[in-house]
Amino acid sequence: MLEIKNVTKKFGELTAVNNLSFTVEKGQVFGIAGPNGAGKSTLYNLITGLYPFEGSIKFEGKEIRGFPSHKIAKLGIARTFQIPQTFPSLTVKKSIAIGNYFGSDAEFDPAYVDEILKFVNLYDKQDEKTGQLKLLDKKMLMIAAALGTRPKILMLDEPMAGSNSKEILSLMELIKRINQDMGITIIIIEHFMKVLTELTSKLLIIETGTEICCGDPNDVTSDSRVIECYLGD
Ligand code: ADP
Ligand code: MG
Repeated sequence: MLEIKNVTKKFGELTAVNNLSFTVEKGQVFGIAGPNGAGKSTLYNLITGLYPFEGSIKFEGKEIRGFPSHKIAKLGIARTFQIPQTFPSLTVKKSIAIGNYFGSDAEFDPAYVDEILKFVNLYDKQDEKTGQLKLLDKKMLMIAAALGTRPKILMLDEPMAGSNSKEILSLMELIKRINQDMGITIIIIEHFMKVLTELTSKLLIIETGTEICCGDPNDVTSDSRVIECYLGD
């Protein structure tokens, strides 16, 4: 579904992403981990068309390098950001509706917005202003707004950050349902190894923009190179 090939991104002297290649299969939950500054969020920025880069990114067999972000969104690639960013004075329902209106080529569909509200357990809070939501609900809303675009692939950037263990379980349950019930392919950047081994079927570890290893999450997390790069963090 998504094919990253020899992708490199330099910011001046700094190589943030260094010759990365990997493939995400349809229906998969694909994990990405690595120390702070490894280039994980930059990789998302490249996939979603924020910066120019060297190499190739193909989505459903079609080269998307050079496409503007809105066009990439309409092809079916959605993402969330590390820090939840909402429009504080907008209601929960309108925030999801905006995603549905701008992100998808399909007709605006109020029934779909209701479906998403129920799916993320925000139906009862649909008229609340997003600025009043607690962190977990804000995170749910960010995921809901991304789902509003009817994505084929959803890219989550450290969705568990700042959450307690109960909230982590709720988010994990939601991510599983998005993958299994909605049939959406998922890429997840996460620090918690337990979350990654539980959710993903393939895990890529990067450090200073470079692949350390990639494969079955249980093999990857017990790899000495990975343990070393985490202890060094
Ligand atoms: P991660 O998400 O893995 O913590 P990032 O992708 O945010 O890492 O950053 C990777 C490296 O690229 C860091 O050294 C960061 O400072 C640098 N970087 C990220 N975005 C920019 C930018 N827009 N301009 C310059 N340097 C950047
Ligand atoms: Mg990051």
